[in-house]
Amino acid sequence: MLFRDLQKQYDRNREQIDAAIQDVLNEGMFIGGNQVRVLENRLAEYTGTKTCITCANGTDALLLALMCWNIGPGDAVFVPDFTFFSTAEVVSFVGAVPVFVDVDDTFNMDVASLQEAVETVEKEGRLTPRAVIAVDLFGQPADYPGIRRITDEHGLKLLEDGAQGFGGEIDGRKACSFGDISTTSFFPAKPLGCYGDGGAVFTDNEEWAALLSSLKVHGKGSGKYDNIRIGMNSRLDTIQAAILLVKLEAFCKYELEAVNEKAASYTEQLKGQVKTPLVKEGFLSSWAQYSILLENQERRDGLKQYLAEKTIPSMVYYPKPLHEQEVYKKQGLKQYTSLEDAASISQRILSLPMHPYLCDDEISRICMEIYGYVEG
Ligand SMILES: *Cc1c(COP(=O)(O)O)cnc(C)c1O
Repeated sequence: MLFRDLQKQYDRNREQIDAAIQDVLNEGMFIGGNQVRVLENRLAEYTGTKTCITCANGTDALLLALMCWNIGPGDAVFVPDFTFFSTAEVVSFVGAVPVFVDVDDTFNMDVASLQEAVETVEKEGRLTPRAVIAVDLFGQPADYPGIRRITDEHGLKLLEDGAQGFGGEIDGRKACSFGDISTTSFFPAKPLGCYGDGGAVFTDNEEWAALLSSLKVHGKGSGKYDNIRIGMNSRLDTIQAAILLVKLEAFCKYELEAVNEKAASYTEQLKGQVKTPLVKEGFLSSWAQYSILLENQERRDGLKQYLAEKTIPSMVYYPKPLHEQEVYKKQGLKQYTSLEDAASISQRILSLPMHPYLCDDEISRICMEIYGYVEG
């Protein structure tokens, strides 16, 4: 059994994927081929945003957004304490200071904690609060209605890190459309993944879209060899775009629905045994991960070991909250709000095998083994 079975996905879509790659080989436009533009249009249409700009990976996508807003030294950017490192790394990379915010029982940014962090930074007066990066962790959109109230009240930009969130919804509105700028990643294991690295930036603001398009190509002006600002080299190559066009179709046609059926099946069978993931009323998750909570670290590590002995893979996302990462401890980064829940979750969380091609038999066996551990 695999944690995320990409081979099954390939088997099911092999003919189309092979043909799409062969087309690129025949056409020879490896960078900037027509497939890239077609994909950008489809992604914008799917998410309901005006523009989509593809780039090299999900980390660059976040970085481009911060560069677009000219965020740098002296600025504070609020990020959840419980997420993949990239979310905070890009803030530090541009010279700004990440301010960590605690998470709620959906594993996403806690709105009350955000409010407290913003107000404390304002009161202190040392840093200029500029933006919030909210993460759609494990596939569920963050609480954008709640977060928007805070960003509006304090004049902050909102950046949606939808690296794990592509396909999620709030009241029918698609993820990657909730930020002033939103981003995603096409790393192979994400809800919509390619066969290498890839990413995208989404926005309704045409001025920013033009700036982002320049920043991702060496700060280009009207032509390729006309450079009007310092940018970077961040492109999605044509083969990845061609692969994503096939995978996006499968994602829309059946994968998103299938993965929600798998999640429902897990939740039904694990009810009362362990704490199953909470999806809020009106929210839809794209289930980048299906994560359960145990009572404490000992029980979590014990279950992971127990499952491994039965050849069932499981993963700890994430073993440390960001404020406990060595680099930030060394910097002596200041804390502006309690980060207790993020710390507790990182000790108790365990992610189970999850993907649209998981069989019902596999889910039943995983749940039976968990049942055996919990009862035993
Ligand atoms: C994967 C991920 C990223 C980075 O995406 P890459 O394509 O690997 O650079 C950023 N944020 C979150 C929450 C992620 O899960």
